[in-house]
Amino acid sequence: MSTESSRGDTPRTPFQNPVAGFGVTFKAMFKKRLTEQYPEQPKTTAPRFHGRHQLNRHPDGLEKCIGCELCAWACPADAIYVEGADNTDEERYSPGERYGRVYQINYARCILCGLCIEACPTRALTMTNEFELADSSRENLIYTKEQLLAGLDDDMVDTPHAMYPGTDEQDYYRGLVHGAAPDTVRQVAVSKGEEPQEAATDFGPTEPASGKVVGA
Ligand code: SF4
Ligand code: SF4
Repeated sequence: MSTESSRGDTPRTPFQNPVAGFGVTFKAMFKKRLTEQYPEQPKTTAPRFHGRHQLNRHPDGLEKCIGCELCAWACPADAIYVEGADNTDEERYSPGERYGRVYQINYARCILCGLCIEACPTRALTMTNEFELADSSRENLIYTKEQLLAGLDDDMVDTPHAMYPGTDEQDYYRGLVHGAAPDTVRQVAVSKGEEPQEAATDFGPTEPASGKVVGA
């Protein structure tokens, strides 16, 4: 009595079948191990890896997001929620008329496809190489604007604050603003419930910025 092999070619005896199965294991024992030593040795991602998103700033710290919601409309997983609002001279977050007042990405839904960053007209939204996004709480997987907003470089002042004197939003997109003006101070975020004295206590006058050049 003989048994057909899984390929249906050479017949095998009842004794050969279990031995053939162990043969696969035996061959694997001599191959190079591919085990990743994660998280002790995290693997370096490819430069254009699609990881956690980031909301970028202009060189003076103003936000690039204009609250247009194009990223939310482009998202196939309905993972982005945006609410725009108007800037005012007393409370300005971005160079133009509008800014993203509320911005959320739900990483329980996001498939990291990158369609949202393609849709963004201001390059406000990009993706980082950070991939450690797992969490046991659905609530924690909803990242807020504060979590997604880029940090501040030395030449930046946190929002809200005025635009660089003598510029308009076009100058920002032409790359003519290279940092905050020396006397730039953070404004009071009244829409976030801040009191004037709180802003003065917490944020105060900013350090003079050096080498900010507008024009040319
Ligand atoms: S990466 Fe894809 S799924 Fe995730 S928020 Fe952007 S468009 Fe939506
Ligand atoms: S991230 Fe870009 S596409 Fe999304 S609301 Fe802001 S400006 Fe518009």
